[in-house]
Amino acid sequence: HNYTREDILRLVEEEDVAFIRLQFTDIFGAMKNMAVTVSQLEKALDNRCMFDVSSLEGLSGEEDSDMYLYPDLSTFEIFPWRPQQGKVARLICDVYRTDGTPYEVDPRYVLKRAIAHAAELGYTLNAGPECEFFLFHTDDDGLPTTLTHERGGYFDVGPVDFGENARRDMVLTLEDMGFEITSSHHEIAPAQHEIDFRYDEALVTADNLMTFKMVVKTIAKRHGLHATFMPKPKIETYGSGMHINLSLSRDGVNTFQSENDPNGLSKEGYYFIGGLMKHMKAITCITNPTVNSYKRFVPGYEAPVYMGWSSKTRGPLIRVPSGRGENTRIELRSPDATANPYLALAVLLMAGLDGIENQIMPPDCIDENIQKMSPERRAELGVQELPRSIKEAIEELEKDELILEVLGQDLAHKIIKAQKKEYKAYCMQVTDWEIENYLYKM
Ligand code: GLU
Ligand code: MG
Ligand code: MG
Repeated sequence: HNYTREDILRLVEEEDVAFIRLQFTDIFGAMKNMAVTVSQLEKALDNRCMFDVSSLEGLSGEEDSDMYLYPDLSTFEIFPWRPQQGKVARLICDVYRTDGTPYEVDPRYVLKRAIAHAAELGYTLNAGPECEFFLFHTDDDGLPTTLTHERGGYFDVGPVDFGENARRDMVLTLEDMGFEITSSHHEIAPAQHEIDFRYDEALVTADNLMTFKMVVKTIAKRHGLHATFMPKPKIETYGSGMHINLSLSRDGVNTFQSENDPNGLSKEGYYFIGGLMKHMKAITCITNPTVNSYKRFVPGYEAPVYMGWSSKTRGPLIRVPSGRGENTRIELRSPDATANPYLALAVLLMAGLDGIENQIMPPDCIDENIQKMSPERRAELGVQELPRSIKEAIEELEKDELILEVLGQDLAHKIIKAQKKEYKAYCMQVTDWEIENYLYKM
């Protein structure tokens, strides 16, 4: 929406909005907000609402800790699940320093900077995510568990699918908030679901992903369920991915399409894949930022393990879906929803543009199932593995000048520091698996 300040004031009045949430996203991808009542709306719209960033995770020790929230008026939306009198609305905000310059550590700014670079070259990134999640039971205290007693599988319907009412409610709520839902279905694992919404320009998609996760969690709770985007909540079954479909347009025309090419891809399409592949290991630190993310990268559950691309097979790292013409796109299958969507789209865009600017051809496509190949055959084809752990991914990020620059040195440093701390804490754990395997035997 192209709302003006007057539109917002009028909408708030007409719709009987009592609360406005000023939202932003922290460096780890968590949504944060400061709520104001209508009495403070004009102040908020004048970019005069201030907060202290140094209390946010990962940002302690910031010298200049007072920041202002600059609401993006186009993001005004009412929460349909909140009271209908004295409604609650939100505005997504950019974070600015007191001197009026953008705060470089604000993920939304990082994406905006990447988008501006693409615009200089004449490109717009379109991104369409596919989010998977589990709906688990809560215990007697209302706390989340990993339990479900449903046995549903891919595309199953009720009554086998216990989540169908919650899912329908999620879809309708999202539609009320302006989403175009393209499909929703039961995923392969029991209690696993997927809801897809229409692709859009990168910034809108990143904002949408933040809203999407909030809606899914909120509505699940109303149904007595716990929604989780954790990449691998249960062993021996499928994990949850957040595949991202990507294409670049120029003057409103998709530049990835080519009628004559066997994969339906233009030079730009190939170079974009080339750039993604070149930086993929460092990118993985951003698209798969948690210890648990790497539990998903195991064979047998339709998540990628090796770095290959194909327009024929279903499970590679990068797939060229069958859509052609304006629908031509590439699907990156590694990301999961623990990624900060702003940072993920920023690094993907800039890696792809690096491919285009430096005419990086990707390795040949591999149209056989890489996961079923012998190690010898993989070695012969030069197939590389995705990082096996967050530790490996951090090391790759530390080596990748371009990706570090996209994030900005300061933000990159903060993320790496936090991830190293998390990995260290993880290494101190003794797991049930170890007890099971060593306690009796050793
Ligand atoms: N859940 C799988 C993953 O971890 C993907 C299944 C699918 O292709 O939708 O990425
Ligand atoms: Mg899926
Ligand atoms: Mg997919």
